[in-house]
Amino acid sequence: MTELAFKRLQDGAYTGPMNRLVSVFVFVILLACSAQTNRPGYTDTPFLPGQKWRVHDADRPYPRVVSPGARRGDPPSDAIVLFDGKDLSKWRSPKWTVEDGATYPGPGAGPLISNEAFGDIQLHLEFATPSKIEGSSQDRGNSGVIIMGHYEIQVLDSWENPTYADGQAAAIYGQWPPLVNASRKPGEWQAYDIIFEAPKFDGDKVVKPAFVTVLHNGVLMHHRKEILGTVEHAKVAHYQPHPAEEPLMLQDHNTLTRFRNIWVRRLTDYDQP
Ligand code: MG
Repeated sequence: MTELAFKRLQDGAYTGPMNRLVSVFVFVILLACSAQTNRPGYTDTPFLPGQKWRVHDADRPYPRVVSPGARRGDPPSDAIVLFDGKDLSKWRSPKWTVEDGATYPGPGAGPLISNEAFGDIQLHLEFATPSKIEGSSQDRGNSGVIIMGHYEIQVLDSWENPTYADGQAAAIYGQWPPLVNASRKPGEWQAYDIIFEAPKFDGDKVVKPAFVTVLHNGVLMHHRKEILGTVEHAKVAHYQPHPAEEPLMLQDHNTLTRFRNIWVRRLTDYDQP
């Protein structure tokens, strides 16, 4: 039908000033229609199991466009930048110091807590434990990324620093050691890339536990690992029900471990705008 209408336009079926106006209007509408119906793909292929879409479905929504950062670790266009090295306006706890594009806790500062609450996220941050080695085991560069204020991915100087396995850098603290130790030397900047799925509760009941994927300096530490519950020291973790979204927290463990370039992306599902 579209082709026929185009042909009639080409053949001059619509003449005269008014008809010309109508023809332009029809042309624009047809163009819009053809743009919708001529999407590449198929309309007669089998349906994918468990999905409402066919294989190569022409009508399946296109993923939205996100511009990646210029360099590895830079925030993509849809990221919420929580700390860009300049100020802590996105956080509570003003006792953290900002210096040379990084932040660290002052004496007795307490945790750094984001103003915004999050559920499922992709999180990027960079940290550097102190160049001067002081203390050992858990007293060396200890901090932590405490997601939702409950689930700690350990930050520690784990360069030639023996400690219990489930407490070293990139551990799900007290639950799972990292798969490998990819720590850089004290004072060097390191990166965590974390994909976190928030737990779901129905009253006191855990409907779905939390899962986490962690890369440390680009190396896989945990692959969608189930989290046992709220972080504990020397106890078995269990879930403490909490809201669907909670702030992100950085631990103050009385060390001068610094953080920079902190951003998150809220995770959305397939086929969502
Ligand atoms: Mg810690």
